[in-house]
Amino acid sequence: MQWVEAKSILTRTSGYLKTVTSHSLQPYVGCALGGSLCGVGCYARHNVFVTQGRSWGRFLVAKQNAADLYRRNAEREARWARRHRGAFSVFLSSATEPFPPQEPRAGVTEGVLRAMLQSPPDELVVQTHSCLVVGVIGLLRELSACCRLRVHVSIESDRDALPGLPRSAYTVRQRLDACRRLRDGGLFVVVTVAPLLPIRDPKAFFRALREVADAVVVDHFVEGDGTPDGRRTWKTALPKAMEAVLPRSTGLAYRDEIVEAARQWFDGPVGVGRDGFAGRFRFD
Ligand code: SF4
Repeated sequence: MQWVEAKSILTRTSGYLKTVTSHSLQPYVGCALGGSLCGVGCYARHNVFVTQGRSWGRFLVAKQNAADLYRRNAEREARWARRHRGAFSVFLSSATEPFPPQEPRAGVTEGVLRAMLQSPPDELVVQTHSCLVVGVIGLLRELSACCRLRVHVSIESDRDALPGLPRSAYTVRQRLDACRRLRDGGLFVVVTVAPLLPIRDPKAFFRALREVADAVVVDHFVEGDGTPDGRRTWKTALPKAMEAVLPRSTGLAYRDEIVEAARQWFDGPVGVGRDGFAGRFRFD
């Protein structure tokens, strides 16, 4: 892992995230989980400004001054966000994993969360694939007393692997356990089924989620990968592997089928696509 002195830390959102939060925040550049299943269709891997020709999953750069930059810029960005977006809300993170295996020693994300205690956003979305998020439950609890906080844990399916692709960095069971610990810690936990992969047993899956999460969000790579027709993801190996398991899973109708299953079996708030990521859930 490399260290770098970053120039900025709070990015005003555009594109897919614009109606989700006012800002995104990446404590790292690149992603330590990029070589696992989620990295295959990862939307961030297509960002040439991030990769600069490097292979996704093969590099990780830590922003050593991330917390200082947050402290310095939070008030200015909060004023801008409240004027232009209605609230100062932060998505942590959209183009990296905020809790990679290096985080417990590096402490970059933890430093940012501590800085947020001094200047909290109005809303914070912690988005992770990693069970290491449980290491900061105490800190997240403190933050949830100062701002609206949702912890989003990605569990895209009840499968840990698809044929021909690398396995998930953390098993479904491990991530369910992490969700349970987060919720037992008093946090609002959202499982993001995103991007949706073929689910073997939707009834059992959503019943299991009901035990550990407060809400679920379902998002498909079609409409969800930053292009209207999922063309970014079609260029990757992910759709072929999905079709090998369940041919209809690459169509948007599969998302609607799974949303219906979630509404039936999860028995709680269900969000769809970017509305879901923004916390705009369907309760009916
Ligand atoms: S953890 Fe997130 S940013 Fe990293 S490869 Fe997976 S989907 Fe992409």
